[in-house]
Amino acid sequence: MFEKILIANRGEIACRIIETAHRLGVRTVAVYSDADANARHVEMAGEAVHIGRAPAAESYLNGVAIITAAKETGAEGIHPGYGFLSENPDFADDVAAAGLTFIGPTGASIRAMGLKDAAKKLMEKAGVPVVPGYLGENQDPDHLKAEAAKVGYPVLIKAVAGGGGKGMRRVDAAQGFDNALKSAQSEAQKAFGNDAVLVEKYIEKPRHIEFQIFGDGKDVVHLFERDCSLQRRHQKVIEEAPAPSMTAEMREAMASAAVNAARAINYRSAGTIEFIVDASNGLRPSWFWFMEMNTRLQVEHPVTEAITGIDLVEWQLRVAAGESLPKSQDQITLNGHAFEARLYSEDAENGFLPVTGNLTHLQFSDLARNDTGVREGDVISPHYDPMIAKITVHSSSRELALSQLSAALDGTGVAGTVTNLAFLQNLSRNKDFRAGNVDTGLIERNVKALTVPKPTPNAAILIAMLSASGLDEQPAQHAGFTLWQPLSQTLTIGKGEQIFSAKLMMQGADRGVINFDGQDYQISRTNGAWTINNRKSNLRAVRMANTVSVFGNGAWHFEMVDPLKISQTKGDVSDVIVAPMPGLVRAVFVKVGQKVTMGDPLAVLEAMKMEHTLTAPRNGMIAEVLVKADDQVQAGAALVRLEEPE
Ligand code: ADP
Repeated sequence: MFEKILIANRGEIACRIIETAHRLGVRTVAVYSDADANARHVEMAGEAVHIGRAPAAESYLNGVAIITAAKETGAEGIHPGYGFLSENPDFADDVAAAGLTFIGPTGASIRAMGLKDAAKKLMEKAGVPVVPGYLGENQDPDHLKAEAAKVGYPVLIKAVAGGGGKGMRRVDAAQGFDNALKSAQSEAQKAFGNDAVLVEKYIEKPRHIEFQIFGDGKDVVHLFERDCSLQRRHQKVIEEAPAPSMTAEMREAMASAAVNAARAINYRSAGTIEFIVDASNGLRPSWFWFMEMNTRLQVEHPVTEAITGIDLVEWQLRVAAGESLPKSQDQITLNGHAFEARLYSEDAENGFLPVTGNLTHLQFSDLARNDTGVREGDVISPHYDPMIAKITVHSSSRELALSQLSAALDGTGVAGTVTNLAFLQNLSRNKDFRAGNVDTGLIERNVKALTVPKPTPNAAILIAMLSASGLDEQPAQHAGFTLWQPLSQTLTIGKGEQIFSAKLMMQGADRGVINFDGQDYQISRTNGAWTINNRKSNLRAVRMANTVSVFGNGAWHFEMVDPLKISQTKGDVSDVIVAPMPGLVRAVFVKVGQKVTMGDPLAVLEAMKMEHTLTAPRNGMIAEVLVKADDQVQAGAALVRLEEPE
């Protein structure tokens, strides 16, 4: 086994690799760009080397800087993770030429599978079924169009160098071919510097089913399939293993094709064979075709780990260190069902635009394995993929695992950026998905319903108000709170343009009635949390500097409204000056017996990161001073009492 490895990546996958390496007693070296100096993967690794500026081209794609870092730190191997340099055959060769081990396949394997047309030809030769189509050299538009007619419409034009769904166009009839070809070619040229395309039969109601395979250069085994049919614009959203309604016969046929594909190139390390399946009549063993091979560890590998109990990174390290496959095919068993959902910093309600932000709050559920590269307080920068986490659940059956996924998503909370969490929650409850009725068009067909903004429930508004006013904190034992608690107080919270306000009447420290929106709500505190109308819900509020987020079956973000401003505009005049919000008494300016005139400063309260000066609401005499500097006070706590001047 290696003594030390370098991880040529960032984010969740770098963290995930470091975890396994440390468990095996392997020391780790992280690399980082200017933007990642304080990143989680840098914190986790034993050592870290700065390799360049924030843009990936100047850091995580800089093979020379990475190999130099490995040499300088004495790392013996380089793990590329996924993305970045993981499928760059020249980098794999350069690592080997530098006398280091590339923890992945050989450069030759990556090259053989790098171009879709060459890979398809190779697979055809190995007897693996491929999607019918044209893979020829002749890129003349008229020739391609004639080939499309032979294949039969609808067809799919694909960039041979493609990836991530780029350079791909569906064409339904001959008259649309020329335009689609032009736009596919120009997109391919821009993205890959190669405008060659292939034409293949467009599969109706397609399912994406891929096989995890693993080789040691001599033998190849498979670790069952993953269904990645839940996609949006060819990007995977939720993956699962095994595939719903998979039959033994179909699995056998697909697994042996996958293993043959990997054997054809004497594959070493983890790889994925992607198949497209025509599911218009259920799963039939002769209706699947090879699409492409990914010569790396895949984003969605945790679902395979969940159902097999195998750590794929451990296998990668052991095989790269020269060991044979740790298990034979019949020792690899399938247990239960797993789902993975990809949590992104993106605005699902707004065309899924990626969003940058500051993770002011980040909470994961204990029900899931949460693979993440960020911590609370971290920034989602514009430089890299805006993924926040992969949420993976595992249970004994598909039904239970999917319920667990919904529950884990409900237990996840992110504030400070916009996320696709509500979209994932909706998707996890989609009827067709629940029934295992999946295909790659499911999300697009339902996208409106899946992304409709959730109305803000009154319960969420009430919970947010209670949190904003500090009432969700346990009252301190000796606080003057109960004694001086006002009979009624106004609660307010803002949401965008709206300001909600309600009247709260407390009946002791733990009960009360809120009048909101013309309705009375009974509130009571049980086990430290507020219940509304005696109904416990999964809503929970998180208060940050001057915002409150409520999470549950959705996420709602509110802004705190400065209560001082509101009470001043309302001109409340009372004898008792109370803390309008929880805070720290910074200074008290008055003594008992002192005369004050309206507007005189009485005390300074620090709250919401600001200092608020409380002033005398009228002329009078100070009858009581109930706090001193440095006291922590609750909202509503009495600070000073005035009397009529004599
Ligand atoms: P990329 O490498 O750009 O990700 P793939 O070849 O892996 O492209 O295809 C991505 C997705 O496009 C697949 O998961 C599937 O949903 C869809 N797709 C690919 N080929 C076909 C086809 N022949 N018919 C229908 N859909 C296809």
